[in-house]
Amino acid sequence: MSIQSNFEHIKNRISQACRRVNREEDVQVIAVTKYVTVETAKEAVDAGVTELGENRVEGFNEKHEAIGDAVNWHFIGTLQSRKVKNIIQDVDYIHSLDRSSLAKEINKRSDRTVPCFVQVNTSGEDSKHGLNPENVESFVEQLKEYENIKVVGLMTMAPLTEDEQLIRNCFRKLRALREHVQALNLDYAPCTYLSMGMSNDYEIAAEEGATHIRIGSSLVGNETT
Ligand SMILES: *Cc1c(COP(=O)(O)O)cnc(C)c1O
Repeated sequence: MSIQSNFEHIKNRISQACRRVNREEDVQVIAVTKYVTVETAKEAVDAGVTELGENRVEGFNEKHEAIGDAVNWHFIGTLQSRKVKNIIQDVDYIHSLDRSSLAKEINKRSDRTVPCFVQVNTSGEDSKHGLNPENVESFVEQLKEYENIKVVGLMTMAPLTEDEQLIRNCFRKLRALREHVQALNLDYAPCTYLSMGMSNDYEIAAEEGATHIRIGSSLVGNETT
């Protein structure tokens, strides 16, 4: 399968999922290129992908250098504070804001507003990063002092499981939390977006209101296996 046909297939599946729940379709597909080469990432751009996502700073820098600013760049992985300076000039969205020390560093290193998603651990798994759902509202309130941070949405990763209901519950939890954050009425936290869904669960995510779906293996492949 070519990237082009994968992309068409995924977009169709997302459309169908939105139609099933009578949802207006406003979904961005982010091609996650962490498993693939620069060449493959370029193929994705040629196939019409406009959003690229990387989870490691080194991969981000390598791909950005080769491809440039014709696409939007999403940083989706755990971000060490000391590495913020290496991506801050080039990143369009950070999906992994999960602590005040990171917010402080982003704020300090940037000379413009940085659109961020607050990452939430909706599954409760120890292996997952992100805030405990109970702490999300107070965390967002604390971000007030960082004038370069804009909370555009929330992000989560569902557990890797066959249990569809478990996955769906994680996505529902994220959507409910978005309502709570929106109700705070903070001008720096419009919190309109939901970044959720990957290769295995993106159709469920689309049904549950995802606005940003991060897809790696089933879109661009996985050249490391
Ligand atoms: C790798 C990764 C993805 C994409 O994973 P696939 O299962 O290959 O689609 C999405 N989000 C994050 C945070 C990732 O690290």
